[in-house]
Amino acid sequence: MIRFNENYAKLKASYLFADIAKRVTAFTQANPQANVIRLGIGDVTEPLPPACIEALHAGADEMGRRETFKGYGPEQGYAFLREAIALHDFQARGCPIEPDEIFISDGSKCDCGNIQEIFAHDIRLAIPDPVYPVYVDTNVMAGRTGANIDGRYEGITYLDSTAANGYVPAIPSTPADLIYLCFPNNPTGAVATRAQLAAWVAYAKRHKSIILFDAAYEAFIRNPEIPHSIYEIEGARDVAIEFRSFSKTAGFTGTRCAFIVIPKTLAAHDSLGRATPVHSLWMRRHTTKFNGVSYPVQKAAAAIYTDAGRQQTRALTDFYLGNAKLIREAMARLGLPCVGGDNSPYIWVNTGRDSWEFFDLLLHQAQVVCTPGAGFGKCGEGHVRISSFNSRENVVTALDRIAAALK
Ligand SMILES: *Cc1c(COP(=O)(O)O)cnc(C)c1O
Repeated sequence: MIRFNENYAKLKASYLFADIAKRVTAFTQANPQANVIRLGIGDVTEPLPPACIEALHAGADEMGRRETFKGYGPEQGYAFLREAIALHDFQARGCPIEPDEIFISDGSKCDCGNIQEIFAHDIRLAIPDPVYPVYVDTNVMAGRTGANIDGRYEGITYLDSTAANGYVPAIPSTPADLIYLCFPNNPTGAVATRAQLAAWVAYAKRHKSIILFDAAYEAFIRNPEIPHSIYEIEGARDVAIEFRSFSKTAGFTGTRCAFIVIPKTLAAHDSLGRATPVHSLWMRRHTTKFNGVSYPVQKAAAAIYTDAGRQQTRALTDFYLGNAKLIREAMARLGLPCVGGDNSPYIWVNTGRDSWEFFDLLLHQAQVVCTPGAGFGKCGEGHVRISSFNSRENVVTALDRIAAALK
């Protein structure tokens, strides 16, 4: 008799986006003439930069000629892409990261989800709330938690992100072995200062733990004081893994390319306390279970680092940040406190009421869809996430309607 992994039965069904869809469908069926604007999405809306499209075409042409055809590539990714990343994303910022410390993948969701399998079963986890659900759910699937009681899994130390701490969680008073951090944050849009990240690095050093740093929204940082990489912090090479993705940076959500950085100096320990490089564990895992990202896509990703590519991706993120600024200003005029939107595409609004009630109010009174914060965790209650991923016209119209509805 085949049995299933019963840890899957512990997963709290995520009804968030299904629930949103259900409510929006019910509304549009009752109001077929309504023009609903979706500011709830976590997906980009603008097309790929021309430099990437050109490289994609050129890569496809190479695959069509015998002399330039490529079969399986290196599992870690082509050297041309890893070298461009190491140079532009890290060395140019003073981070001592080498090309062979970078693993190219088809997405950060997979990387964030897969990384936990190289660590022991009984490690102590610290995970923020509210949160990108992948960090929690993949650990539930792996059996590292108990049951979900009252919206929280037993066995996880939750790092509360609230108005009181500016949505940057405090260092816990108890030790944790694996710590998930995401800055600029999804869903809150909050960023961490150099001092805050340095405190996390010191904590990880003290407890011989590892920080998993998700920097998917790094390209939206405009404040020169805010670190783009955890490796800008002294000593982070010895305690941190960083996740990056081209999804939000360059509109690659449907094209798929990302990478993970594992410094060769980063160690984990066996039950006798003997150190092993995490790099070699992940190398083994990656080469066993992954066969590389397609060549044309890696060419397209490398094009982001050309002069034209850098200008075009900057224009893309500038465009979304322009939307975000309008959203922030509109919330301020309505007297609703919010964070994010200045170094992030998301604005986290403290609504002062039940998050689903506020969602329904915007849907019914303004025909605007946002994302109820409660769907991202207990601490998300009372908040909604508004996304700047949309056209300028839609954002302006939506904000006018929200202002009229809340007056
Ligand atoms: C969008 C996003 C990613 C990127 O996921 P991909 O699989 O690379 O598209 C990673 N982390 C967070 C928090 C995100 O919101």
